[in-house]
Parts: sequence; structure tokens; C-alpha cells
Amino acid sequence: METRKVYLDNSATASVAEEVLSAMLPYFRESMGNPNSLHSWGRDARRAVDEARESVSALIGASPNEIVFTGGGSVSDNLAIKGAVWSAKEEKKHIITSAVEHHAVLDTFKWLGKRGCDVTFLPVDEYGMTSPESLASAIRSDTLLASVMYANNEVGTINPIAKLGGICREKGVLFHTDAVQAAGHIPIDVKELPVDMMTMSAHKMYGPKGIGALYIRKGIKLTPLVHGGGQEFGLYSGTENVPSIVGMGAAARIALKLHEAGEARRVAELRDMLLDGITARIPDSFVTGHRTERLPYHASVCVKRVEGEGMLLRMDFAGIGVSSGSACTSGSLEPSHVLLAMGLDHATAHGSVRLTLSIDTVRDDIEYVLEKFPPIVETLRKMSPYKG
Ligand SMILES: *Cc1c(COP(=O)(O)O)cnc(C)c1O
Repeated sequence: METRKVYLDNSATASVAEEVLSAMLPYFRESMGNPNSLHSWGRDARRAVDEARESVSALIGASPNEIVFTGGGSVSDNLAIKGAVWSAKEEKKHIITSAVEHHAVLDTFKWLGKRGCDVTFLPVDEYGMTSPESLASAIRSDTLLASVMYANNEVGTINPIAKLGGICREKGVLFHTDAVQAAGHIPIDVKELPVDMMTMSAHKMYGPKGIGALYIRKGIKLTPLVHGGGQEFGLYSGTENVPSIVGMGAAARIALKLHEAGEARRVAELRDMLLDGITARIPDSFVTGHRTERLPYHASVCVKRVEGEGMLLRMDFAGIGVSSGSACTSGSLEPSHVLLAMGLDHATAHGSVRLTLSIDTVRDDIEYVLEKFPPIVETLRKMSPYKG
């Protein structure tokens, strides 16, 4: 088999879809107006922002004035959590999250924990799932907010969001969910779902980077992170990033079409082919995360007695883009907080590899990976310091 280029790191970021790019382009030059200007250029830009807000709200069953455009998923997470804490009455300062959140949530909670909030980090099960029971037992009379991710970015596990949100609603606790990995990939309807705030990011659903949205249920008050001209209902000041907002709107419309076309089923079939193929061909490898309550495009495995980085680099050399859970940050080789919270030991957690598919992934790509991956592991194991 000849060499190909196979990008399987779509949970880190995905390519902008062709239609997204063509929708964005006019807003850099011809229709470059500031939506706050009263002339025709401004009105054109305002119309484009309004249309994008309609599209993003339609994707999740919200109404357009419940959607705030922000600078991305991290900004939306910060706005939801800090915004809720800062606008709360003094007495309510207990906040809850899970141990496996993205750092945009986790580090926001840790920061608030040093500034007067009492923080509970919920444990997860062996799949990285947060149980409704553990959330229910953590809620106190002074609990203000709980934030539990819709689906985990490292292991793909989908949480029981309806139940988690239902518990919060019953007890009068605000519920936020980081749906960056889920939105646009699995159907979400906030009319049915008891969530108060939900984070989305365009670049994880074939839109551009640096643009996201926060769904804020009508009636919920937040304090903004950024003050200024009062754009985005006063919650995210600054001249609107019109091309990117338009791009996110286009991505939302594409996502709805993909749902209808059964894209989730197509990609889940390839995902299972990958997971089954890897675990069958590589001895001492296993799937991380839940097998069925799982994002359709998300595959993740641990390979024992091999370093994730070693696999990543050799896969890259073979033309395959993946990520390893054991990203080496600032010189210290700390394994993923997600895998450790799931109960894996350090050595095993270091052997994690994530392969995330997209609309562009085809069967030949999966076959190529299944051909290249096992011999890479074999070579690395021969060199490995681990005795097993
Ligand atoms: C990527 C990601 C984010 C951050 O989104 P950005 O738009 O890159 O800031 C937050 N949460 C999850 C679960 C993610 O996967």
C-alpha cells in the first residue's frame, strides 16, 4: 500500500468545510462592515451575524437571543462559570465539576477555588463517566453551579446529561455543560434537555478557529468577562468577528444536514472498524472510554509498554496524524488527568493514543492505519525499557 496522508486528530481541530470557507470569504472584503455601523456596509454585516445566530440556535433548538458568540470554547467556558459565580449572591459559593473536564473548565474551577469558592471535583467511573448519584450527593444548600462536560475530548465518553441536568434543576442549581466535542456531531435539543448554559466551539465542527458560542437559557444572568461596547447582549464586548461568526453559522447548517444524511452512523462504523482492528492486531492494547456511549467519530486506545509520543511521532512519519494523551507539558511528563481519574496507572496511561475521524475520513484511511500501526508498536516495544 502506498503512503497516504491520514489526519485523525479532528478532536484537536478539524479542517474548515469547503462551504464554510466560501461563506466566510465575502466578509473579509466586499461585506467588511462593522455590524454596529448604520450604513449599508454595517447593515449587511449585521444581517450576516443575525443569520448565523439563527443557524447556531437552530442546531440546538434554542432561540437566537439565547446564543452569545465568543472567542471560542475556552472563552465560553470561562464566561459561563466565572460569569455565574460573579453575578451570584454572596451566600452561594459552592461549585461542582468533574475530574475529567477540559482545562478551560478545570483550571477555571481551580482558580475560583483560590478566590473564595468551595469546589467539589466529582470522581468518574472506569469509562470517564460522571454518575447522576455522585452529583446528587455532592449538592448542598449553598451550591450555585455544576459543570459537567457533554462528552469527553480524550476518551469520547458521553455523559448522561439529561439526568445530570435534571438533578440540578430539581435542586435549584445552575447547570453548565461543555459540549464542544458533542455539538454538531450528535443531536442536541435544549428544549428537551435541562441545561442552563452550554459551550460550543466552531473549529471542532468544521468551522474556523477562534470563534465559539455560549447558549444561555433565557432569564439567566451572567457578569461579563470583557467590558466595552456592549456587543453580544453586553456579554462579550468587542467588534464582532463577522467572518468567523458567518463561518460558525455555516458550520451549524452543515451539521444539521449531516445529521439528516446519517453521517454519525457512517463514521461510527469506521470508528468501530478502527477500535476492533487495533485491539485485534496489537497485543496488550485496549479501548479507553465507553464502547457504546461514545462520540461517533472518536476512537481512543491504550497500548501497554509503549510511550504515546513515540507512537505519535512514528505514525506522523507514516503520514498519520493522531494525538497521545500524555502530552509533555513544560518539561514534566505528566500523564493525562482523564486517564488517571479513570483509574489507569501512570505507565499504562502513557501509552494512550487518540484517533478522531471526520467527514473526510474514508474506509481506505482506516485500512491504512490498521496496516501501519501494529508494526510501529512492535518496533517500539523492541526498543522499550519496560519489561513485560
Ligand atoms: C477544544 C475544547 C475546548 C476549547 O475550545 P477552543 O475553541 O479551542 O477554545 C473546550 N472544551 C473541550 C471539551 C474541547 O475539546
